[in-house]
Amino acid sequence: MSTKTLFLRLEGPLQAWGDHLSKYTYRHTYPFPSKSGVIGLICAALGADRDSATEKWLPRLKGLLMGVRIDYPGFPMYDYHTVGAGLGNWTAEGKIKNKDKKPEVFVTHREYLCGASFLVALHQRQVDSDPTLLDEIANALNRPVWTPYLGRKSCPPSRPLLEDSQSGSNPCAGEFASLEEALIRHPWPDYGFELPSELDVFIEWSPDASSPTAPPQAFVLYDVPTSFNPPAHTARFVIHQKVARPESYKPPVLSDPGLYLRKEPRRADYTDTEYRARRQERLRKDHYLCVFCKSPARDVHHVTYERAGGEETLEDLRSLCELCHDAITMLEYGEDVTATRIDPCDPRWREAIIQKRRQIIRHRSLETRRRWLRTEIPEEME
Ligand SMILES: [Zn+2]
Repeated sequence: MSTKTLFLRLEGPLQAWGDHLSKYTYRHTYPFPSKSGVIGLICAALGADRDSATEKWLPRLKGLLMGVRIDYPGFPMYDYHTVGAGLGNWTAEGKIKNKDKKPEVFVTHREYLCGASFLVALHQRQVDSDPTLLDEIANALNRPVWTPYLGRKSCPPSRPLLEDSQSGSNPCAGEFASLEEALIRHPWPDYGFELPSELDVFIEWSPDASSPTAPPQAFVLYDVPTSFNPPAHTARFVIHQKVARPESYKPPVLSDPGLYLRKEPRRADYTDTEYRARRQERLRKDHYLCVFCKSPARDVHHVTYERAGGEETLEDLRSLCELCHDAITMLEYGEDVTATRIDPCDPRWREAIIQKRRQIIRHRSLETRRRWLRTEIPEEME
């Protein structure tokens, strides 16, 4: 009797594997993909609507066992979620409870897994009974009819859904004696950081000749779809296990460990007494004039943050008017702000600053322009 295992990699900015027991104010996610979610994903890729998925695909997919290895668990995130548009919030007297007397939308909360990575194995114990099933699934996931998503439509995947099996002739399926073996033997991913010494796996259990009854540590999940129209689920047994690092696993070598040890960059502290004194001195030495356009200056600009935070020298600072300061700040945002500081006295920046000033003048409100006109006359308005 031959077996076959297809590997999927579920990764994305957000995933939400809604557990069917929390339908109300807080909608939780399982910590790993649910079977109904994965089957829904496959049916979407196959282009099967609710009825054809229920009639044609669920009976075929029923024989597949699903296991998950949590390669990176991600972290939880909550966002609001609106439901029940048009339902209305009713008072005890049977009236709709808002001042417009129109039906309302309810705001609930939904939990997401942020940045998680799951290895999902779909294991077929009797390939002979449906020899093309896993290939059909793999083809559909390679060329999906409808957009695949990770539990909710707002959760797109961030990489191809099929995982290279690294064994056997089919690039994404392999032959393993059991689901457990498939999840243990599949290589650990390289994320550029060292993985823990053990990973969690959740393996679906079903009876066979060697184990006719569920082991005591098995728990029940109600996530096996029996119909999509209307949605209905049945239970399965799942066993939680820890998988130790394979001997072949080598932690990644970080090319530049210093990158992670580097100190926080220095920041300006505008409340620091030393800095405030230096700032005043700079303005006084510049006769309270902008070093760029020579109009009255009230701002002082850092040309380096090397000594920022109170140890600035006079040479680190430049007096500027509000308009030149805004122009320079906007130019710096286009660059790497901390690495590239713009010195208004450097002739290389002259043209860029003039252009940016023009742009600002054109886009600012009349009110702002009037305020500037009190201190200077920009060339466009002369
Ligand atoms: Zn200026």
